[in-house]
Amino acid sequence: MDIKSKNINTIASPELKTNYKNFPMVPRVIFGAGCFGQLGEILLPRRINSEAPFIFLVDDVFEGSGLISRIPLIFNDQIIFISADEEPKTDQVDALVQKIKNDYDNLPSGIIGIGGGTLLDLAKAVAIMLTNKGNAFQYQGWDLVKKPSIYHVGIPTISGTGAEVSRTTVLLGPEKKLGINSDFTTFDQVLLDPDLTKGVSKEQWFYTGMDCFIHCIESLNGTFLNAFSQSYGEKALELCKEVYLDDLQEDDARNKLMMASWHGGMSIAYSQVGVAHAMSYGLSYLLGVRHGIGNCLVFQHLKEFYPEGVELFNEMKVKHNIRLPKGICAELTNDDFEIMINVALSLVPLWENALGKEWRTIITPEKLRSIYQKI
Ligand code: NAD
Ligand code: ZN
Repeated sequence: MDIKSKNINTIASPELKTNYKNFPMVPRVIFGAGCFGQLGEILLPRRINSEAPFIFLVDDVFEGSGLISRIPLIFNDQIIFISADEEPKTDQVDALVQKIKNDYDNLPSGIIGIGGGTLLDLAKAVAIMLTNKGNAFQYQGWDLVKKPSIYHVGIPTISGTGAEVSRTTVLLGPEKKLGINSDFTTFDQVLLDPDLTKGVSKEQWFYTGMDCFIHCIESLNGTFLNAFSQSYGEKALELCKEVYLDDLQEDDARNKLMMASWHGGMSIAYSQVGVAHAMSYGLSYLLGVRHGIGNCLVFQHLKEFYPEGVELFNEMKVKHNIRLPKGICAELTNDDFEIMINVALSLVPLWENALGKEWRTIITPEKLRSIYQKI
């Protein structure tokens, strides 16, 4: 038997059957200061016809700004401004889908999300729900989407969440805060123009950037870690340290944080997040605390799980003079704590990644309550 046929036999042998995830990646990405100017030429070949518009979902923080006049509108394209003051909800997705269906006879050529994680997630969810029946909440979970979404493009204007690369869109539904995780969620095209992040406030820059930092810490210290995740996580962590602890030129820092976000997202795609995210989901569900700041509020109290990470986090916080709010959980009732604890405990894969299969021996409702009480 020659070597080639021997290999084929080995690959085909039943005991080698494996169960690795075969996950989608963004097939096209453009990166560079000013690349937003190329959006028109990128979209042109994706236009189905003059009756099928592009719908731009844009963070309303840009209303009236110079960015709007640079959006390459033609034919019956439409801009819909959306506030990112609250995290995206399933009924908001349903309302947007209904509006687009009412406004046009045909399906759009595509959905373009311009903004932070909130707008990126809305764009992904609307693109899915335009071709899938029912309500968005029915698809919260893993691999429930049956039909391909329409073409969708993500254009981040703040860096950190990794929403630009992930196969999920995190939505607050009537019963849970959970992503629509599917192979059809991932963007078809991402445009990374670091100049678009120029207007972000210092606090928001810190909170959303720390989301990326915490993705790295949770991925690199998790039991699901593998060489794939590690390679992205280590690069993202290195970039975060440069951005938040060194004294980089502003444009260098913007470029690097944008790539840290990308790599951090890639790292968790093939592993999982951990304790801070599980608990932050509880805060967000009950109190509407935003993802970035919620992660920071929890993470500062997680020294026993992530000692080096928390130390670095504190250094970064001091360097940038960030004061996290206090007393967030001070007035909560027993029922409130129970709701947060139940939301957090329901995120089994996150706990398994953080602490292994026996996580329930370490994490009890009382333990979570004692951490929430410090916030
Ligand atoms: P965001 O979209 O919630 O925006 C935060 C704030 O920054 C808003 O006030 C927004 O108007 C403002 N902003 C954004 N860009 C700006 C700019 N260039 N100039 C001035 N202001 C700007 O921020 P985020 O932290 O990127 O996203 C959080 C959301 O992302 C949450 O809903 C979270 O659930 C989601 N998320 C999704 C994933 C995923 O993989 N899908 C991962 C992590 C987080
Ligand atoms: Zn996150």
